[in-house]
Parts: sequence; structure tokens; C-alpha cells
Amino acid sequence: MSLEFTVLGSGTSVPDPERGPAGFLVRTSHGAWLVDGGTGTLQRCMQAGVDPRRLSGGIYSHHHPDHCADLVPLLFAMRVGPPSRAADYPIWGGEGLASLVAGLQSTWGKWITPGTGQLRVNELPLEAPSEVQLAPDLFLRTRPAAHSAGALHLQFASGSHRVVFSGDTGPSSELARLAEGADLLVCECAGSDEEPVGGHLYPSAIAELVAEARPRQVWLTHMYPHVDPAIAVETVARTGIPTRHASDLDRWSA
Ligand SMILES: [Zn+2]
Ligand SMILES: [Zn+2]
Repeated sequence: MSLEFTVLGSGTSVPDPERGPAGFLVRTSHGAWLVDGGTGTLQRCMQAGVDPRRLSGGIYSHHHPDHCADLVPLLFAMRVGPPSRAADYPIWGGEGLASLVAGLQSTWGKWITPGTGQLRVNELPLEAPSEVQLAPDLFLRTRPAAHSAGALHLQFASGSHRVVFSGDTGPSSELARLAEGADLLVCECAGSDEEPVGGHLYPSAIAELVAEARPRQVWLTHMYPHVDPAIAVETVARTGIPTRHASDLDRWSA
């Protein structure tokens, strides 16, 4: 395995029996990283074969609750074990992540210390591209997304392989650039063409950026209930790029 990407939550903030809020898992031979994590991602992580208490780190596209609410139960689980975690737990996210964490710590204090290790918060610029080496075989590259809360597009690169997650975003030339020639683009589709949602993508806008970026395949995710998945998939697939509606626990690997 050189790079593996698993969907932990293909849904939205609207409760759904089949789909949890946003969450993903990136794995290489050096570890496993949680990407976002709304409610329910810890259980999905176990179902995907990874104990979340042993994660190498976490990366957050932005701070809306449907993308990060599981941070508290995750840190608490690392503390209570058994056994409690000894290693530090590093997390990355856009500017504002440190104050979010400080707010959580002011409420939960020591209960959200990850075992005997420390929580290491790393902020990335919201207005400029950035690159972080997460492991000897894994790079994270980010670009600014177009979303109300301030958000990042995320690219995970290992060797010649690249997987890109849009995060939440309105139409974005930065996303087209980051997804250029990627093996997989996981793209939010919160709105429909008839009823777009502010600060989010919709099928014809995704088709436009896919036609420009030409990733090898597209997985649509984060569809609100008014979006017809069949129409969304068909609209994007007209570009000639294989497209599907992602489900929880779908796995891509190279
Ligand atoms: Zn959001
Ligand atoms: Zn969202």
C-alpha cells in the first residue's frame, strides 16, 4: 500500500441512517491520519480497521461542527485507553484551529489531553498555499477554499499518487489547480443546480472544474437531501471523467 483513502462519512450535518457527517482516513505504510471528523467517525474508523486512539494525526479542512465535532470524544478516548496514549497527537488546520482548541480545553481541561502525550496544534495559512510533510512518504498540500468559515482544499501526495479533498467550498479555481491530474478528487456537492447552497458546490460547477482539472476519477460527497445523487453524478460524468456518489467505508488505494 503506498496510499489509501477511505470515506468515513459521506453525508452532511443532516442525520442520515447510512451516511455520517464528513470524515476520511488517509493511510500509508507509515501510519493513518484522520481527515475532518464529524460525529460518528470514530466508530467508522474502527470499521475501517484503524483504532482511532492510534492515529498518527488529524487534518481539518475547516471548523464547522459537521467536520470536527468528533475531536472531543477522540481526545477523551486517547486519554482513557486502555492503554492511554503515550505519543503526542498532532493536528493541522487553517488559522483559527488553535483558538477552537483553546475553547474546547477551557471547557474540558485535562479530559481532552491525549493520554500522557500532548495535543500539538499546527495552523496553516487560510489565504495562501502551504505544504507539510506528514511522514516520510506523505505530503499534505493545501490551498484556500471559498467557504464562509475559512476553509482549505487538501491534497494528499505519496510518491506519484495524489488524492484531493475539496473541503467545503464554493466554485474555486484553487481547487481546479490542486486537483489537476489527481488520481482521485473527493468533492463536496452540497447543492443542486436548481437550488445551490451559498459557499458550496453544485453539479454544473463541479463539472466545470473537473473538465479543467481532469482528475482520473471523482467521488461526490456531502449532498444535502434536496440534491438528487443520480442527476449530480450524471452531470459531472458528462465530462468523461468516471464519477460516483461516495458511500461510507468506500476505499481507494494505489
Ligand atoms: Zn462548512
Ligand atoms: Zn460541511
